[in-house]
Amino acid sequence: MIRIGLGRDLHRLVTGRRFLLGGAEIPFAKGEEGHSDGDVLAHAVTDAILGAGGLGDIGEFFPPSDSAWKDADSIELLQIAWKKVTDCGWNLVNLDCVVTCELPKILPYRQSIRDSLAKAMGVKSELIFVKGKTAEGLDAVGRGEAAEAMAVCLLEKP
Ligand code: MG
Repeated sequence: MIRIGLGRDLHRLVTGRRFLLGGAEIPFAKGEEGHSDGDVLAHAVTDAILGAGGLGDIGEFFPPSDSAWKDADSIELLQIAWKKVTDCGWNLVNLDCVVTCELPKILPYRQSIRDSLAKAMGVKSELIFVKGKTAEGLDAVGRGEAAEAMAVCLLEKP
């Protein structure tokens, strides 16, 4: 059996915050605002795997109204979610992601982002791909006010 899942997230970019993508810190003047550490890619991936597993979504498991998740490490949230998925017998076929932000360029950090996500999930980095895009100067992402991430994941169960 195979199942597909999709995740998407967007966070404002503000000064005084770290810019985290899949647990990798990207050197930049701004970072993601959020109740947790704001890691937009980790959140999209978490929603994709939970959706593929038919288990729920990130807001259900880690509600922003719960102070337990204030400044939470999003990689830890991903690991908790991934354990729920693998406990149901699912294996990762692959995970494909797109990060959209006007700056900085993602390409130089692609491998470290892939490695960070792979380490968090206990899978080979070859199963995870990450692409960087811009919004061509359009909308809030294009004005550099936000970063967006999308992730699609395929799971298989023998
Ligand atoms: Mg989020």
